[in-house]
Amino acid sequence: MSLFRKEKPAGHYPVERPDAEWRRELSPEAYRVLRQHGTERPGTSPLNREKRPGTFVCAGCGQPLFDAATKYESGTGWPSFWQPLEGGVGTTTDRSFFMVRTEVHCANCGGHLGHVFPDGPPPTGQRYCMNGAAMRFEAAEQE
Ligand SMILES: [Zn+2]
Repeated sequence: MSLFRKEKPAGHYPVERPDAEWRRELSPEAYRVLRQHGTERPGTSPLNREKRPGTFVCAGCGQPLFDAATKYESGTGWPSFWQPLEGGVGTTTDRSFFMVRTEVHCANCGGHLGHVFPDGPPPTGQRYCMNGAAMRFEAAEQE
């Protein structure tokens, strides 16, 4: 892919693993999103329909990212949230695709999750537009 960005998000992360290891342990779609800044096709993630109480965690390292209480239906076909869990994610400026966007990644392993846009609902006005393939859902009542 010519549009693939080779640069990693700035900085180092508590969890850093060789690329071959990520490739072996993640599903192909999770690897493509988390480690290669891919974007899943809208409407394809089962997490779009997830409405139970619980926590969305990083598919790469298990880091808690979003509380289900902050999820909302954005109509985009991607799981959307108005606020991340404290310390769950980090952001960098993404200048790919001739746009300036704010990229969102896991604060623990640096895996790419999606982007955040300033057109979300109250109380934050933020729309964390996430790839479902980059996350797993842990239902509250099962833990
Ligand atoms: Zn992670």
